[in-house]
Amino acid sequence: MLTRAEYVAAQTRAGAMIKTAGIHITREEAERIEIVDFGLSRLETEGAAILTLVTTDRIAVKIIALFAGQTLPQHWHPPVGDDPGKEETVRVISGILRFYIRGDDNMREGSIPAGKENVYTARHELILKPGDQITMEPGTVHWFQADDRGVVMYSFSSVAHDVLDCFTDPAIKRFTEIRDE
Ligand code: ZN
Repeated sequence: MLTRAEYVAAQTRAGAMIKTAGIHITREEAERIEIVDFGLSRLETEGAAILTLVTTDRIAVKIIALFAGQTLPQHWHPPVGDDPGKEETVRVISGILRFYIRGDDNMREGSIPAGKENVYTARHELILKPGDQITMEPGTVHWFQADDRGVVMYSFSSVAHDVLDCFTDPAIKRFTEIRDE
């Protein structure tokens, strides 16, 4: 849950990060940046700002901004009907992204959000710099985290059904509740 003021402040902050990263967005786009707290009400620790540039029945292009130290929780993209699940490429525009998939635990730079050791189980760390990108097959468990300067990235994917994404943490709800004061 976020208050309306917190939501708008996070939108403004994310919009500034995106522009500073050199991506021109319109005012209309800046105003529809989606702030996601995953229902956990601790946006600075676990959350994301997401701007959808394109979404059709076949593809999606998004800009994702993570504030300093912010983590996008562990999840995977399941099959939906005839679709085998979202295939996704993440490409870093600015900042250093700590990206985690299953594999040998070589985690050095990142940190598991406090109290969540049991849900962040993918511990194979990849450090992505601007211009680096990674493509994930459907069903790949992943999560990612910004370093202490924040990160802006593109997400290019096949059709996105974000509401159906599967999160390891059972406390997560995909939609952010906004409270009007
Ligand atoms: Zn994903």
